[in-house]
This record gives sequence, C-alpha cells and structure tokens, in this order.
Amino acid sequence: MDSKPDHAPAHFIRHIIEADNASGKHGGRVVTRFPPEPNGYLHIGHAKSICLNFGIAEEYSGTCNLRFDDTNPDTEDEEYTNAIQADVRWLGFDWAERLFHASDYFDALYGYACELIRKGLAYVDSQSAEEIRATRGSLTEPGVASPWRDRSVADNLALFERMRAGDFPEGAHILRARIDMGSPNINLRDPALFRIRHAPHHRTGEKWKIYPMYDYAHCISDALEGITHSLCTLEFEDHRPLYDWVLDQLDVPCHPQQIEFARLELNYTITSKRKLLTLVRDGHVSGWDDPRLPTLKGMRRRGYPPAAIRAFCERVGVTKKQTVIDMAVLENCVREELDRSAPRALVVLDPLKVVIENFAADQVEWLEVQNHPKDPAFGTRRMPLTREIWIDRDDFMEDPPKKYHRLAPGAEVRLRFSYVIRCTEVIKDSDGRVVELRCQYDASTAGGQNPDGRKVKGIIHWASATHGATIEVRLIDRLFTVPDPAAQEDFLAHLNPDSEVIVREARAEPALQDSTADSFQFERVGYFCRDAVDSRADAPVFIRTVTLRDTWARINEGDGA
Ligand code: ATP
Ligand code: MG
Repeated sequence: MDSKPDHAPAHFIRHIIEADNASGKHGGRVVTRFPPEPNGYLHIGHAKSICLNFGIAEEYSGTCNLRFDDTNPDTEDEEYTNAIQADVRWLGFDWAERLFHASDYFDALYGYACELIRKGLAYVDSQSAEEIRATRGSLTEPGVASPWRDRSVADNLALFERMRAGDFPEGAHILRARIDMGSPNINLRDPALFRIRHAPHHRTGEKWKIYPMYDYAHCISDALEGITHSLCTLEFEDHRPLYDWVLDQLDVPCHPQQIEFARLELNYTITSKRKLLTLVRDGHVSGWDDPRLPTLKGMRRRGYPPAAIRAFCERVGVTKKQTVIDMAVLENCVREELDRSAPRALVVLDPLKVVIENFAADQVEWLEVQNHPKDPAFGTRRMPLTREIWIDRDDFMEDPPKKYHRLAPGAEVRLRFSYVIRCTEVIKDSDGRVVELRCQYDASTAGGQNPDGRKVKGIIHWASATHGATIEVRLIDRLFTVPDPAAQEDFLAHLNPDSEVIVREARAEPALQDSTADSFQFERVGYFCRDAVDSRADAPVFIRTVTLRDTWARINEGDGA
C-alpha cells in the first residue's frame, strides 16, 4: 500500500517500490539497510543515504537495518561504530534490534565461497597482485586467464582452507570468482572474493586470516538479511552484474534488487573521508565536530536541527543524474526550521555605547517582550532598559546617505520593543573614533507607540550596558572560498581564512543566560546556538548556525563569479 506523505514528491525509487508492491515481487515487503563502513565519521552525503533508506522503509511500513560493513580490518575502529550509531539516532532514525555487522557473516561467507569452488565457479589464484592487475585487460582488450584458473576443485578447497588457517603470507594467494576474463564489464573478469590479511579485526579478533571483498560480502549480507531493495550510489552500477551473478549461483534466502542513485554533492565543502581526515589530523579544524565541517557531528554542534537536514535530503530529491547542490539550499532548510523553532534574543556583536541622557541613572524599566514574533506559545521574557545601553556600531553613521533609517546625528530610531531615541551628540576619542553617543528618549513612544504619527522607519536591537551579559560569539562561515574544493589541485590552498571569526565581547540581554533553549535568532544578526563543548557557566560561547539571509549569493555576484 502506498503510504507516502502527501508532500513527498515521487521519485524513481518510490516508483520501483510501488510497482514491486503492486506485482507482489517481494510479497509486499520493503526492507532496506544503511551500510556504513566504520572507518570514519558520517557526513551530509551519508545523511542522504540514511534519510532515503530509513525514510523509504518508514513510508512503506517496512524496516531498515543498520549494518556495519566491517570487512576491512585495517581501517575500522570501535570509535567509529559508536559515533555512527549516535549520529543516525540524532538524525531521528531507529533500527530497533536490527543492528548487524558484515563480520557476523564471515562464517557464512566462507561457506558460500566453498560452494562456489565446488561448483567450479571460484578458484585460488597464486599470481601476485601485479600479475593479476597486468592481466585484467582494459576497456578495449579482454583479460588473460590465470595459469591457475583450472585448478581442481579438491586443490582449490584445500588451498582455500589453508589460506583461512593462516598457512600463507599475505598476497601469496587470492580466491577469485571464475566468471569471464573476456567480459566487457571488467568487474566480471574473475573478481577477487577473499584475500589473505593477517590483521586482527575489531570484532572477530584473531579468528580470520582471510577477509571477504566488498562486492562479494555486500550482496550476500543483503540476501541473508532479507533486504528487498538495496539502495546504493551510482558508482556501483557497473558492479550490479556481479551482485546478481553471486546471488544467482548460490543457494541464498532471497535475491535483493540493487538500485543506484546519484550521490549527494554539495558545493563549498568536501565529503571525501580522506580529505576530511586531512583537515582534522593536520589541525585545519578543531576536530570531527568542528562546526565548519559537513560531518553530522559538526552540523550538530553548529546547531543544524536534524529536521532541517531531513527536509534538505527530501528537497534535493533522488535521481540518477549527478548534480552539485548549492550550499544555499541546505542553509535555507536550516533557516526555515529555526525560524519556526528558535526563540529570539537581542545581542549586540560590535558594541557602541549609547547614553540616554534623560533616563535616570538608577532607573531600570523592565519590558515584557515576546520570545517569538509569530508564535505566542514561546511566551515572553523581561528585558531591562537602562540609561546606558549598547547598540551595534553598524547601526550608526556619522554622515549617512539619504534613506538611511538607522541612527545618525540628529536622527531618530526606535529601540526594538521600546522608545524612539534621538542622537544629540557624538563623542570621539583622540583618534577621531566614535566611542559614545548621547541620546534623548521620547517618553510618549513607549512599547512601539507613535502618538504623533511621525515617521521613524528604523528599528535597531540593543542591550543594557549595566544589566546585560558578555558572551563569546563565533561567526562561522563556509570552510572553502571556492565552490569545488575537491576539484582543486591542493584543496587546502582554498580554505576560507574567515571561516571562523571570534567576537570575544558581544553584549546580550540577561534573559539569554537563563533560557534553556539551545538555538536562538539574535534579531537582525542571525541564528546562533549555545556551544555545548566550549561554553562554561560563567563564560557562554555561541556559534553562528547560519546568517539571516544568503549572503554568499551576493558576495559571488560582487566578485563577478
Ligand atoms: P568509502 O570510500 O569509505 O566507501 P563511502 O562514502 O562510500 O566511503 P560508506 O561508509 O561506505 O562511505 O557509506 C555508507 C553508505 O552511505 C553507502 O551506501 C554509500 O553509498 C552512502 N553514501 C556515502 N556518501 C554518499 C553521498 N555523498 N551521497 C549519498 N550517499 C552516500
Ligand atoms: Mg562505501
């Protein structure tokens, strides 16, 4: 039955599943899996695969397994296994009791390999890796058969058993499928199934001296778990004939259908595990959770709501055509979600002192203000107005152009939630830098009132200078200055030097400190979140999640890019 939500656009995978359900191909079942290799942290590209696999299963009342594809003992680690589980949960998905490992199937995979040998469909090749590579052929030339291709079943079984027992050094032999050295598809030219590797595995320890290859392990793992639709990225399209060949030869419980989709590529960032590792290891970022990274850990620390990432994955869709998605699409999803979910606060990043001369020095006027302009459910908070306040230096110009609606000598502006003030004097230091403004407030304009109908267009944010908090704010921006860092000869040469600008003494209203919310819109400034890592009770740190508008499009136009 088709249970996809009304807003979900059709895409080719949904079409395939609906057709399969209609024809009863898998008995109406939908079972998918997300199969990460535990050799790194998850990133935004993985999020697409997670949302697709778990999302599709949910939509069609099916299930999705989390399976660690842990067939390579060299690069895998328990640290990654734990982090991956935490990340998938954070994104909002649950595999219930269906947590599996390819290493759970090592015995079965060994048994199936023996079955292939007995059927004359696999053999132990004793050529070196170089010889095998040299005889594989090319796109225009067929491969050359190995001299060991016609070993007897008995010899193959005996050698394979000894490979497993650890009798041979690495590289001495390899188990290959016996398919077709003349196939136009290089993946079918007797691909490797098992290789010798004397390395302990983080789950099976010293038990195995041979490890299965991905193409062989993946299809059988899918079949053993009763997967119906095995969704993978486009680069595996040419591997599908091998996926099907292995399952066709063996007595496995079912034959899942491999379906390929285009991987997610996002501009201004990188998703290569190797390059991410370089950034972390060489200290270009502070760690895997650096808020500038496209890792799920980084995006979480940066304050991206999981719902925004899910909405993004839905919005970019599922296609067979490889495209590059603009970072602005992701940032827009984050803004849309935070606009709904983040309470507001007033914070001044670049403070300029304003003294309201006709406001008594010991007076504090507590204003009851709304936490969210569109949603009364967020309630209200209290903001102190005092004689001395901070405004943003950006909101004052000594010699403004026409139509400047903020503060200038002699001009009026409204303080958000409060009075209209007029600037009466500008005080400068000996270098001519403006250090203070003297203003007068108009008592008849309290709380947005405008009794004489005069035109005050500008509304600026502010914070009390005597009843406020000082916070550190980190202005996070894109990590790279070029749209396609991965395509550059040296991607490190294109790091954005301004990807993190630290403001040590931003001034905030006091309620910010007491709020239990994690994310805020600092009005007129951007969306920010409390940094769970570096904040201390007496020294809070806020990270910019995203600006209020897409400033990059404008910058690029300005560059003529
Ligand atoms: P590796 O080169 O180490 O295999 P990988 O990015 O494929 O890197 P895996 O842990 O194997 O990492 O990926 C787990 C799953 O996530 C796979 O099914 C993979 O196809 C999918 N995936 C990885 N990157 C993307 C991406 N950019 N877009 C969509 N899916 C992705
Ligand atoms: Mg992979």
